Amino acid sequence: MNILDLSHIKKSFGQNDVLKDISFKVDEGEVVSIIGPSGSGKSTLLRIATFLETMDDGSLSYLGHPYVTSQNGQAVYADKKALHQAMSNFGLVFQNFNLFPHFNVLENITDAPIRIQKRNKEEVYAQARELLSKMGLSDKEKAYPSQLSGGQQQRVSIARALALKPKILFFDEPTSALDPELTLEILKVIKELAAEKMTMVIVTHEMTFARDVSTRIVFMDQGVIVEETSPEKMFSSTNERTKAFLGKYH
Ligand code: ADP
Ligand code: MG
Repeated sequence: MNILDLSHIKKSFGQNDVLKDISFKVDEGEVVSIIGPSGSGKSTLLRIATFLETMDDGSLSYLGHPYVTSQNGQAVYADKKALHQAMSNFGLVFQNFNLFPHFNVLENITDAPIRIQKRNKEEVYAQARELLSKMGLSDKEKAYPSQLSGGQQQRVSIARALALKPKILFFDEPTSALDPELTLEILKVIKELAAEKMTMVIVTHEMTFARDVSTRIVFMDQGVIVEETSPEKMFSSTNERTKAFLGKYH
Protein backbone atom coordinates (compact mmCIF):
# COMPACT_ATOMS: atom_id res chain seq x y z
CA MET A 1 0.00 0.00 0.00
CA ASN A 2 1.21 3.48 -0.82
CA ILE A 3 1.45 5.69 2.26
CA LEU A 4 2.91 8.91 0.84
CA ASP A 5 3.02 10.11 -2.73
CA LEU A 6 4.77 13.40 -3.45
CA SER A 7 4.85 14.19 -7.11
CA HIS A 8 6.73 16.87 -9.11
CA ILE A 9 7.33 19.11 -6.10
CA LYS A 10 8.74 22.54 -6.77
CA LYS A 11 9.74 24.99 -4.08
CA SER A 12 11.68 28.25 -4.21
CA PHE A 13 12.61 30.77 -1.57
CA GLY A 14 12.97 33.94 -3.63
CA GLN A 15 15.56 33.19 -6.32
CA ASN A 16 16.67 30.03 -4.55
CA ASP A 17 15.14 26.96 -6.23
CA VAL A 18 15.30 24.60 -3.30
CA LEU A 19 13.30 21.67 -4.69
CA LYS A 20 13.40 21.16 -8.44
CA ASP A 21 10.69 18.77 -9.56
CA ILE A 22 11.09 16.16 -6.84
CA SER A 23 8.97 13.01 -6.83
CA PHE A 24 9.11 10.83 -3.75
CA LYS A 25 6.92 7.88 -2.79
CA VAL A 26 6.86 5.72 0.31
CA ASP A 27 5.08 2.39 0.58
CA GLU A 28 3.97 0.64 3.74
CA GLY A 29 6.82 -1.01 5.62
CA GLU A 30 9.57 0.91 3.88
CA VAL A 31 12.37 2.58 5.79
CA VAL A 32 13.74 5.32 3.57
CA SER A 33 16.81 7.30 4.51
CA ILE A 34 17.41 10.66 2.85
CA ILE A 35 21.04 11.65 2.72
CA GLY A 36 22.79 14.60 1.11
CA PRO A 37 24.84 17.70 1.81
CA SER A 38 23.61 20.52 3.99
CA GLY A 39 21.33 22.85 2.04
CA SER A 40 20.27 20.21 -0.50
CA GLY A 41 16.59 20.53 0.47
CA LYS A 42 16.08 17.50 2.74
CA SER A 43 14.36 19.39 5.56
CA THR A 44 12.26 21.38 3.13
CA LEU A 45 11.02 18.14 1.58
CA LEU A 46 10.02 16.76 5.01
CA ARG A 47 8.46 20.08 5.98
CA ILE A 48 6.37 20.03 2.79
CA ALA A 49 5.34 16.43 3.40
CA THR A 50 4.16 17.41 6.89
CA PHE A 51 2.49 20.73 5.95
CA LEU A 52 4.97 22.84 7.90
CA GLU A 53 5.88 24.43 4.59
CA THR A 54 3.86 24.93 1.40
CA MET A 55 5.03 23.78 -2.01
CA ASP A 56 4.79 26.06 -5.06
CA ASP A 57 3.77 23.31 -7.44
CA GLY A 58 3.23 19.57 -7.23
CA SER A 59 0.86 17.11 -5.64
CA LEU A 60 0.68 15.18 -2.41
CA SER A 61 -1.42 12.29 -1.21
CA TYR A 62 -1.54 10.12 1.88
CA LEU A 63 -3.01 6.62 1.55
CA GLY A 64 -4.28 7.49 -1.90
CA HIS A 65 -6.22 10.57 -0.74
CA PRO A 66 -5.11 13.70 -2.60
CA TYR A 67 -4.51 16.67 -0.31
CA VAL A 68 -2.55 18.84 -2.70
CA THR A 69 -3.09 18.86 -6.46
CA SER A 70 -1.26 20.65 -9.23
CA GLN A 71 -3.51 22.98 -11.18
CA ASN A 72 -2.17 25.21 -13.97
CA GLY A 73 1.35 24.96 -12.62
CA GLN A 74 0.36 25.75 -9.05
CA ALA A 75 -0.14 23.67 -5.94
CA VAL A 76 -3.71 23.80 -4.69
CA TYR A 77 -4.25 22.74 -1.09
CA ALA A 78 -7.39 21.04 0.22
CA ASP A 79 -9.40 22.81 2.91
CA LYS A 80 -8.33 22.95 6.56
CA LYS A 81 -10.55 20.11 7.62
CA ALA A 82 -9.06 17.77 5.02
CA LEU A 83 -5.52 18.84 5.92
CA HIS A 84 -6.24 18.09 9.56
CA GLN A 85 -7.29 14.62 8.51
CA ALA A 86 -4.11 14.27 6.46
CA MET A 87 -2.02 15.21 9.48
CA SER A 88 -3.36 12.29 11.49
CA ASN A 89 -1.35 10.00 9.18
CA PHE A 90 2.12 11.02 10.25
CA GLY A 91 4.38 11.74 13.20
CA LEU A 92 7.43 13.94 13.12
CA VAL A 93 10.62 13.87 15.18
CA PHE A 94 12.96 16.85 14.96
CA GLN A 95 16.62 17.39 15.65
CA ASN A 96 15.91 19.54 18.69
CA PHE A 97 13.19 17.40 20.29
CA ASN A 98 10.62 20.25 20.34
CA LEU A 99 8.98 19.09 23.56
CA PHE A 100 6.67 21.49 25.40
CA PRO A 101 8.86 22.76 28.26
CA HIS A 102 5.92 23.47 30.58
CA PHE A 103 4.43 19.98 30.16
CA ASN A 104 5.82 16.94 31.93
CA VAL A 105 6.72 13.81 29.98
CA LEU A 106 3.31 12.20 30.27
CA GLU A 107 1.55 15.44 29.31
CA ASN A 108 3.82 15.88 26.32
CA ILE A 109 2.83 12.46 25.05
CA THR A 110 -0.89 12.53 25.85
CA ASP A 111 -1.81 16.10 24.93
CA ALA A 112 -2.36 15.71 21.18
CA PRO A 113 -4.08 12.29 21.31
CA ILE A 114 -6.56 13.64 23.88
CA ARG A 115 -7.01 17.22 22.69
CA ILE A 116 -6.67 16.85 18.92
CA GLN A 117 -7.52 13.22 18.22
CA LYS A 118 -10.17 13.36 20.97
CA ARG A 119 -9.42 9.84 22.10
CA ASN A 120 -10.42 8.27 25.38
CA LYS A 121 -8.15 9.52 28.21
CA GLU A 122 -7.75 6.15 29.90
CA GLU A 123 -6.74 4.51 26.66
CA VAL A 124 -4.30 7.30 25.82
CA TYR A 125 -2.64 7.19 29.26
CA ALA A 126 -2.35 3.41 29.10
CA GLN A 127 -0.76 3.64 25.66
CA ALA A 128 1.58 6.45 26.79
CA ARG A 129 2.81 4.37 29.73
CA GLU A 130 3.38 1.43 27.42
CA LEU A 131 5.41 3.63 25.07
CA LEU A 132 7.43 5.05 27.96
CA SER A 133 8.19 1.55 29.15
CA LYS A 134 9.31 0.61 25.66
CA MET A 135 11.57 3.67 25.60
CA GLY A 136 13.00 2.78 29.02
CA LEU A 137 11.52 5.90 30.58
CA SER A 138 8.87 4.53 32.94
CA ASP A 139 10.38 6.37 35.91
CA LYS A 140 10.33 9.72 34.08
CA GLU A 141 6.65 10.32 33.44
CA LYS A 142 6.44 13.26 35.87
CA ALA A 143 9.76 14.79 34.80
CA TYR A 144 9.97 18.00 32.79
CA PRO A 145 12.03 18.12 29.58
CA SER A 146 14.70 20.32 31.21
CA GLN A 147 15.34 17.55 33.76
CA LEU A 148 16.15 15.00 31.05
CA SER A 149 19.24 14.27 28.97
CA GLY A 150 19.09 14.96 25.24
CA GLY A 151 18.74 11.24 24.53
CA GLN A 152 15.87 10.94 26.99
CA GLN A 153 14.17 13.99 25.51
CA GLN A 154 14.48 12.51 22.06
CA ARG A 155 13.00 9.21 23.25
CA VAL A 156 10.07 11.16 24.69
CA SER A 157 9.55 12.91 21.38
CA ILE A 158 9.58 9.55 19.58
CA ALA A 159 7.01 8.27 22.10
CA ARG A 160 4.97 11.42 21.52
CA ALA A 161 5.00 10.86 17.77
CA LEU A 162 4.08 7.17 18.16
CA ALA A 163 1.20 8.01 20.50
CA LEU A 164 -0.61 9.49 17.51
CA LYS A 165 -0.60 6.01 15.93
CA PRO A 166 0.88 7.34 12.70
CA LYS A 167 1.02 5.40 9.46
CA ILE A 168 4.41 6.94 8.80
CA LEU A 169 7.07 8.52 10.97
CA PHE A 170 9.42 11.25 9.75
CA PHE A 171 12.74 11.97 11.41
CA ASP A 172 14.80 15.06 10.57
CA GLU A 173 18.36 14.45 11.78
CA PRO A 174 17.16 12.92 15.04
CA THR A 175 20.64 12.49 16.47
CA SER A 176 22.55 15.52 15.26
CA ALA A 177 22.10 17.37 18.57
CA LEU A 178 23.33 14.36 20.56
CA ASP A 179 26.76 13.14 21.58
CA PRO A 180 27.89 9.76 20.19
CA GLU A 181 26.67 7.66 23.11
CA LEU A 182 23.19 9.17 23.13
CA THR A 183 23.14 8.94 19.33
CA LEU A 184 23.53 5.16 19.56
CA GLU A 185 20.69 5.00 22.06
CA ILE A 186 18.33 6.76 19.63
CA LEU A 187 19.50 4.77 16.60
CA LYS A 188 18.75 1.60 18.54
CA VAL A 189 15.19 2.77 19.17
CA ILE A 190 14.72 3.54 15.46
CA LYS A 191 16.12 0.11 14.55
CA GLU A 192 13.60 -1.52 16.87
CA LEU A 193 10.81 0.39 15.16
CA ALA A 194 12.14 -0.78 11.79
CA ALA A 195 12.09 -4.37 13.05
CA GLU A 196 8.42 -3.84 13.92
CA LYS A 197 7.85 -2.72 10.30
CA MET A 198 7.09 0.88 11.13
CA THR A 199 7.10 2.93 7.92
CA MET A 200 9.73 5.64 8.31
CA VAL A 201 11.54 8.39 6.46
CA ILE A 202 14.79 9.42 8.11
CA VAL A 203 16.99 12.35 7.17
CA THR A 204 20.36 11.41 8.58
CA HIS A 205 24.11 11.87 8.37
CA GLU A 206 24.67 8.53 10.13
CA MET A 207 25.77 6.54 7.10
CA THR A 208 26.43 3.19 8.78
CA PHE A 209 23.04 3.40 10.40
CA ALA A 210 21.37 4.34 7.11
CA ARG A 211 23.00 1.36 5.42
CA ASP A 212 21.85 -0.99 8.20
CA VAL A 213 18.30 0.17 8.70
CA SER A 214 17.04 1.32 5.30
CA THR A 215 15.14 -0.55 2.66
CA ARG A 216 15.97 2.34 0.31
CA ILE A 217 18.32 5.31 0.37
CA VAL A 218 17.65 8.58 -1.41
CA PHE A 219 20.59 10.85 -2.19
CA MET A 220 19.65 14.50 -2.64
CA ASP A 221 21.89 17.27 -3.87
CA GLN A 222 20.99 20.84 -4.83
CA GLY A 223 17.26 20.27 -4.85
CA VAL A 224 17.17 17.09 -6.91
CA ILE A 225 17.16 13.39 -6.15
CA VAL A 226 20.44 12.29 -7.68
CA GLU A 227 19.98 8.62 -6.98
CA GLU A 228 17.65 6.34 -5.01
CA THR A 229 18.37 2.69 -4.55
CA SER A 230 19.05 -0.11 -2.09
CA PRO A 231 21.72 0.48 0.57
CA GLU A 232 24.02 -2.04 -1.13
CA LYS A 233 23.81 -0.29 -4.47
CA MET A 234 24.06 3.20 -2.97
CA PHE A 235 27.28 2.36 -1.18
CA SER A 236 28.80 0.88 -4.32
CA SER A 237 27.46 3.63 -6.58
CA THR A 238 29.47 4.69 -9.59
CA ASN A 239 27.72 8.09 -9.73
CA GLU A 240 30.35 10.79 -9.29
CA ARG A 241 28.24 13.03 -7.05
CA THR A 242 27.19 10.12 -4.87
CA LYS A 243 30.76 8.87 -4.58
CA ALA A 244 32.04 12.34 -3.72
CA PHE A 245 29.43 12.73 -1.00
CA LEU A 246 29.80 9.27 0.53
CA GLY A 247 33.58 9.57 0.31
CA LYS A 248 33.42 12.27 2.97
CA TYR A 249 32.10 9.69 5.39
CA HIS A 250 34.80 7.09 4.94
P1 ADP B 1 18.92 20.55 4.20
O1 ADP B 1 17.91 20.11 5.20
O2 ADP B 1 19.23 19.55 3.16
O3 ADP B 1 20.18 21.06 4.86
P2 ADP B 1 17.08 22.73 3.74
O4 ADP B 1 15.86 22.14 3.18
O5 ADP B 1 17.08 23.13 5.17
O6 ADP B 1 18.33 21.79 3.41
O7 ADP B 1 17.44 24.04 2.92
C1 ADP B 1 17.56 24.04 1.51
C2 ADP B 1 17.76 25.45 1.05
O8 ADP B 1 16.61 26.23 1.33
C3 ADP B 1 18.91 26.18 1.72
O9 ADP B 1 19.54 26.98 0.76
C4 ADP B 1 18.22 27.03 2.76
O10 ADP B 1 18.96 28.17 3.04
C5 ADP B 1 16.92 27.38 2.08
N1 ADP B 1 15.82 27.60 3.02
C6 ADP B 1 15.25 26.68 3.81
N2 ADP B 1 14.23 27.19 4.50
C7 ADP B 1 14.14 28.51 4.15
C8 ADP B 1 13.28 29.59 4.51
N3 ADP B 1 12.29 29.42 5.38
N4 ADP B 1 13.50 30.78 3.92
C9 ADP B 1 14.48 30.94 3.02
N5 ADP B 1 15.32 29.97 2.64
C10 ADP B 1 15.16 28.77 3.18
MG1 MG C 1 18.01 19.91 7.29
